[in-house]
Amino acid sequence: MVPRLIIHGGAGLIESPDFTERQYEKALRKAIKETYSVLLQKGSRQAVLYGIRLLEDDPLFNAGYGSRLQKDGRVRMSAAIMDSVSQKFSGVINICNVRHPIDVADTLSKRRHAVLAGRGATEYARRRKMEYCSPLAPHRLKEHAEKVKGESGTVGIVAVDHKGCICAGTSTGGVGYETPGRVSDSATVAGTYASRVCGVSCTGQGESIVNQAVAAKIVARVEDGVSLASAVQRLVGIARQKKLRIGLISLDCYGNILVGNGYNTKVLYAKHEGTKIDTFLTQPHDHEHVPRH
Ligand code: ASP
Repeated sequence: MVPRLIIHGGAGLIESPDFTERQYEKALRKAIKETYSVLLQKGSRQAVLYGIRLLEDDPLFNAGYGSRLQKDGRVRMSAAIMDSVSQKFSGVINICNVRHPIDVADTLSKRRHAVLAGRGATEYARRRKMEYCSPLAPHRLKEHAEKVKGESGTVGIVAVDHKGCICAGTSTGGVGYETPGRVSDSATVAGTYASRVCGVSCTGQGESIVNQAVAAKIVARVEDGVSLASAVQRLVGIARQKKLRIGLISLDCYGNILVGNGYNTKVLYAKHEGTKIDTFLTQPHDHEHVPRH
């Protein structure tokens, strides 16, 4: 199996005038190059953790430092990870002031109670001495003052290593200016899921992703013998018909990589198929992806 990797930088794209499309592409290309070498050396789970950490540190993306603020001016972040070998979903929901929510999600996979939310999640991270960070970035404070809502910038990775282990991970700051305590799809099985047949990470309007049970549904269909392409296409068809802003990246055990974009949704992503890197921006309703390089 040739190790393969896909990373998304969210749906909706660049609402902040402070950044350009080019900056997002550059950041994704750098992340995918570094993450691919971790994939070769340490396998898919370590690669997903490494890549998501990089993006959580980058204020361009709505995850970790640079997460959007909820209506009450606080940042609450969510992240989840799952791989095909452990078959354990673990995550944190609305955690505060940690540098890497994805690392907290990772440590929880070894515990009986694998998903923690709110204060419990934050206190768990403190007890484990996980790195503290104030995630407030200046451009997000400005957005909050202007009551900007969005659906962009969440990050996610799906990777398969040479042993065929598939891992999916997602990290988000939510949609911005939401009701305090709103739960995003990212740390639910609708937003992040992996089994031995395929893995999926979602972005876009969380409530729609949960209503459609996107990631878990695609994986279940592939387990039942549907091809990944048909499973993604079916979901995308419904999303466009129902006008749902849903985006996703996915990868199966044969190394097929598929990206889905629902109604009026763009997905920014980069993929590495062993020999070359491509970065793309799917256009709303395009069936063909538009190469960026
Ligand atoms: N899915 C995320 C949420 O609803 C937002 C996003 O992907 O940009 O919180």
